[in-house]
Amino acid sequence: MGRLLIWIALICAVYWLWRRATRPAQAKPGIEEAAPMVRCAHCGVHTPRTNALSQGPEWFCSQAHLEQGATRSDR
Ligand SMILES: [Zn+2]
Repeated sequence: MGRLLIWIALICAVYWLWRRATRPAQAKPGIEEAAPMVRCAHCGVHTPRTNALSQGPEWFCSQAHLEQGATRSDR
């Protein structure tokens, strides 16, 4: 009975190592953090500047908010 548990543990370990080895390198440090964040002038959401739309000095999170323009509700 003890041998079976050893085999199960071994298989789990091999599977875990295999998963680790085959997993694509998804961690790309720096790219997300390097992108400067801008604040949407309409809704105030912070979005990466690469995804944001600019109109003059102001930034918007989406085309819809760009068209609606900046809000002046400073709460
Ligand atoms: Zn917005």
